[in-house]
Amino acid sequence: MKAAVFYTPNQPFKIEEVKEPDVMPDEVLVKIGTCGICHGDLQRFEGEIKVPTPIILGHEPAGTVAKLGREAKGFREGDNVLLFAVGCGECYYCKIGKDNVCDKIAKGFGLERPGAYAEYTKVYAREVFRLPAGIPPEAGSVVTASTGTVFHAIRLANITAGDTAVVYGAGCLGTQMLQLLKVFGARVIVVDILKEKIELVKKLGADVAINSREVEPVREIKALTEARGADVAFEVIGLPQTMLQAINSVRRGGKIVDVGSVMEPIPLKMMPFIDEGLSLSKEVTLMSVSHCSKADMTKLMEVLSIAKIDFESGTVKVPLDEINRGFEVKREGKCARVLITP
Ligand SMILES: [Zn+2]
Ligand SMILES: [Zn+2]
Repeated sequence: MKAAVFYTPNQPFKIEEVKEPDVMPDEVLVKIGTCGICHGDLQRFEGEIKVPTPIILGHEPAGTVAKLGREAKGFREGDNVLLFAVGCGECYYCKIGKDNVCDKIAKGFGLERPGAYAEYTKVYAREVFRLPAGIPPEAGSVVTASTGTVFHAIRLANITAGDTAVVYGAGCLGTQMLQLLKVFGARVIVVDILKEKIELVKKLGADVAINSREVEPVREIKALTEARGADVAFEVIGLPQTMLQAINSVRRGGKIVDVGSVMEPIPLKMMPFIDEGLSLSKEVTLMSVSHCSKADMTKLMEVLSIAKIDFESGTVKVPLDEINRGFEVKREGKCARVLITP
């Protein structure tokens, strides 16, 4: 089969003919339809995140079941599925239902095991989720890349109808978060700096879209909430600057959720948890989010069978042969997501 093999950071992927994976009893072979390029893949490509090489990357795939191991139950050949690395099922975190922060989560397919920038990949049966009828197959790649994570974040933040939620960033995560927040009944304000993305979120149903190059977002959010601030602010880009804006955007008792994983340090004393008018602590909650649990993904499949979510807008598809160009498009960051198609 054809695969894009990653050898050395910052060197182009090589398109090679490799052996099709052998399926063990508890595994499933999947014919890849699409595989997303994750921001983390850019970091792997650039050597910021180390991976054992040579390796076939790609951990955001969807496709159809091609072959089942003899113990892999619950699927049929031809089923439309998405693949999602769930926990090992044995560590402490998996046992207490926090499998999204499993001890072995970094060893998943496309991270340390072979992934899906290829015609086929194999995974454990527990990592296969059947897509609801009526959902386009490639939507699976978007769900495993972003919808799962934002669904987990929304559930963790306990969003209820009537809440005002701010989303900092209108990329892969932000565009999905906006739509799911609408499903939960929130008023949604999205902040970004790119014209294309502002237009996109307006089309996807944002109640307010703020271009923070033109308008100071915190002031605008206060103006929209009778000077209180939003109930919840989600940071989905991973930048210290937007994290600080998110902290400043919430009301007293509000929640700030770090979905984008801010890597650069922010000195704690810079974090303005004090209400200047009251000279009192704002009593906010700062949360961080990692992936999506198996329970969330299972529940999300139910949500997707009833909710209308746009998985296509902002997507750019690039054939596997041109994966190096796909990484360029991803780096430019103008579209919401890039999907590789074998
Ligand atoms: Zn990823
Ligand atoms: Zn585990």
